[in-house]
Amino acid sequence: MKTVSGISASPGIYIGKVFLYKEERLNVPKYKIEEKEIESEFSRLLAAVESAKIELETIKETARMMNISENEIAMLDSHILMISDEAFISQIKDLLSKQLVNVDWVFYEAISEHIKTLTVSQDMYMEERVSDLRDIAKRVLSNLLDTERVTLADLENECIIAAHDLLPSDAVVMDKKKIKGIILNAGGKTSHTAIIARAFEIPAVVGLFNITRRVKTGDNIIIDGNAGAVIINPDEETTKIYLEKIKRQEEIDLHLQSYIKKEAVTNDGKKIIVAANIEIPQELESVKNHGASGIGLFRSEFLLLQSQIYNSEERQFEIYSKILQEMEEKPVTIRTLDIGGDKIIPYHEDIREKNPLLGWRGIRFCLTSRYFFKKQLRALYRASVHGNLKIMFPMISCIEEVDEIFQIIEEVKHELKSKAQEFKDKVPLGIMLEVPAAVLAAEFIAKKVDFFSIGTNDLIQYTIAIDRGNEKIAYLYQMYHPALLRLIKMSADAGRNAGIPVSICGEMGGDPRATVVLLGLGIEYLSMSPASIPAVKKVIRNVDMPEAKQLVDTVLQKSSGKEIEAFVEKWFNERFKGSI
Ligand code: PEP
Ligand code: MG
Repeated sequence: MKTVSGISASPGIYIGKVFLYKEERLNVPKYKIEEKEIESEFSRLLAAVESAKIELETIKETARMMNISENEIAMLDSHILMISDEAFISQIKDLLSKQLVNVDWVFYEAISEHIKTLTVSQDMYMEERVSDLRDIAKRVLSNLLDTERVTLADLENECIIAAHDLLPSDAVVMDKKKIKGIILNAGGKTSHTAIIARAFEIPAVVGLFNITRRVKTGDNIIIDGNAGAVIINPDEETTKIYLEKIKRQEEIDLHLQSYIKKEAVTNDGKKIIVAANIEIPQELESVKNHGASGIGLFRSEFLLLQSQIYNSEERQFEIYSKILQEMEEKPVTIRTLDIGGDKIIPYHEDIREKNPLLGWRGIRFCLTSRYFFKKQLRALYRASVHGNLKIMFPMISCIEEVDEIFQIIEEVKHELKSKAQEFKDKVPLGIMLEVPAAVLAAEFIAKKVDFFSIGTNDLIQYTIAIDRGNEKIAYLYQMYHPALLRLIKMSADAGRNAGIPVSICGEMGGDPRATVVLLGLGIEYLSMSPASIPAVKKVIRNVDMPEAKQLVDTVLQKSSGKEIEAFVEKWFNERFKGSI
């Protein structure tokens, strides 16, 4: 038995057999050709590329039939575009004539060189583009060499997939009913696979470095997506413990299900809004199934990672409209693009900076990239007639940014009017409070905007001065740091004084242990990943406001975040006795 730790990318526990999804090693031969063979070699490449395109078109058709999101289908389109790139194809022809070796080898060398250049960037999103390129290269080479490929679309049995990384096209076609867990050498919380795993509630642990060398097909393993651990060939005792954990979790989940349809109202009648956070439109199903009252945060940057969507007002308009229609007049808060920091868009090379978390991020990027920003705002305003839209702006640090946004919105409205395009004039406009400066100036900003949403993930990062993705200083990442609790209280007070709602949409909003503290601090609107909703509703329905306020009064006297955490944990365990 061996336990390997990685990054928890999607929660849940499963005990089962591994399917080692190895990238099959293609043995690419190298041999000399004669000049007269150049044309026939080149034709072989064109035929292989054509077959790869047909394969991708077929996957697209299947994806549509399986109701896969337009977002992912667009990804396949980008693959088709990549292999049709004329400059690349003619580069291969030149190399063929110069080197006089077989086309398989020339193609393999050229694409490897390209991948190498992208890989040295050491950038998360660039890595995803490398995945795209590898996917295409594999297809074309398999066609050239006439080898068969294994796909994740038609697995025979339920299994846990172990792989170095999953290609985007694997994730699209994978049989989500058969795949009960995903363990990867590579990846982080924002990789395509992590997002898809969370959307489909498949437990996933990533960043395991060499898990594909430690397991083989048929091995028994336990994947613990809650703890970010994988237990290889567990002994009887451990399996028994985990079976108990699964049973307990199932009982808890079943019990919590009864809260899905219940109102989020405290014992003494205070109504709390409980909404969902989503990254991709495919999560809408889960939003509906978990009893969300609306969408409190749609992180549009995940959609806009695809340049075809980023560059197209029409595509954005279609997607935003569809989300609004599907939510049937329930409020939908769409956050404008929040790139920069750790979220880099591959087609914006210029965003690479020395100190990205303090750099050209979120609204700072949008205000200096007006051509794009206006495109997104036009798409949003046009979509506004299809439902109950709210627009939110990330990374605000001063009031001037708010003024500038409003001026751009006026220009956008003017442009839409001049083209006789329909839109709602009064779409509520709000900002994220995630930079301490904005919280400290919240009383002024509150007079200008329609709502606030506290991004605790970044607010903790910027208040305590710790990179939220750096595991070396993760121990300093304190949700209950007295400074953070005071900033949340200040935000809630500023909102109340100005008569505007204040929500929490960072991870803290979905942590049932923190719910009572947030209520006591004056927060009445929480947004979280859909699966957390039932547990949070249970807490809300079992406390009353005077009790929450009293608990917070005690907490605010304490000087240490760790001490507060222990105090809250104790209260929670005594109150809920393991039922959440
Ligand atoms: C946050 O910072 O808390 C937040 C919700 O935004 P993101 O996690 O996307 O930065
Ligand atoms: Mg944030």
